Amino acid sequence: MKPRFRFAPSPNGLLHAGHIFSVEENFRQAREMNGEVLLRIEDIDQTRCRPHFEEAILERLKPFPFTGDIRRQSEHFAFYAEKIEGLNKLGLLYKDHTTRTGGVSESYALKLNMKAALAHINQELFWVEKGVKTIANPLIWGDVTLARKETPTSYHVSVVLDDALQNITHVVRGMDLYEQTSIHVLLQKLFNLPSPHYHHHALVNDQKGDKLSKSKP
Ligand code: GLU
Repeated sequence: MKPRFRFAPSPNGLLHAGHIFSVEENFRQAREMNGEVLLRIEDIDQTRCRPHFEEAILERLKPFPFTGDIRRQSEHFAFYAEKIEGLNKLGLLYKDHTTRTGGVSESYALKLNMKAALAHINQELFWVEKGVKTIANPLIWGDVTLARKETPTSYHVSVVLDDALQNITHVVRGMDLYEQTSIHVLLQKLFNLPSPHYHHHALVNDQKGDKLSKSKP
C-alpha cells in the first residue's frame, strides 16, 4: 500500500502561513515516499465552523493535488457515537455534569476515566516521532472529554478514527498537537487501531515571533 498522508483543517477560520507550510510539508514528504495526501474537513464543532470558511479553505487548497474524495466529519456523527458507545460498554466513560464555574447542569461532558483506561490497556504506550520511539503519557491530560451532550464526538476521537478509517500511515502536523498525541495513541489502543507514524513540525511565527492564529492570518 502507498504511504498515505492527510491535511485536516477545521473550517473555523481562514488558513494562515502555518497551515500552508503544513500542507507543503505533507506533499513534500509524500512525494519523497511516492505516497499520496488526502484532505479531511474537521468540522465537528458546528458552533465555530462556517461554510464560508470551508469554501475559502477549499479555494486556497485548489493548487494542491489531493487524492480521492474529501471526508467531512460532520457527516459522520453516528459513526463516532457508535465507537464511543463501545468504550462506554467497557465501563471506561462517565458523565460529568459539573459546569466550568462548579455548578451542576442538565448538559454533560462524556469523559474517559483515564486511570481505568490505562489499567485496561496495561502496557507501555508510545508512538514513532520522526522515526524515534517516543513514550506517551496520557495521564497528564486527566479525564479527557470524548463527547458532549450537544456534540456526540470530540477532536480526539474523530481524528483517531478517521486516520485509521482512511488508512493514514503518516501524520504530519504542527508541534501544537505534539502533546495531544499521547491521547491519540491511547485511543488507538482502546479502539484496537494501528498507530500511524508522526512528524510534528515547528510552527510558523509572525514577524513579532508570536504564533499565528486563525483570527490573525
Ligand atoms: N483539525 C486540526 C486543526 O485544524 C488538525 C488536526 C490534526 O492534524 O490532527 O488544528
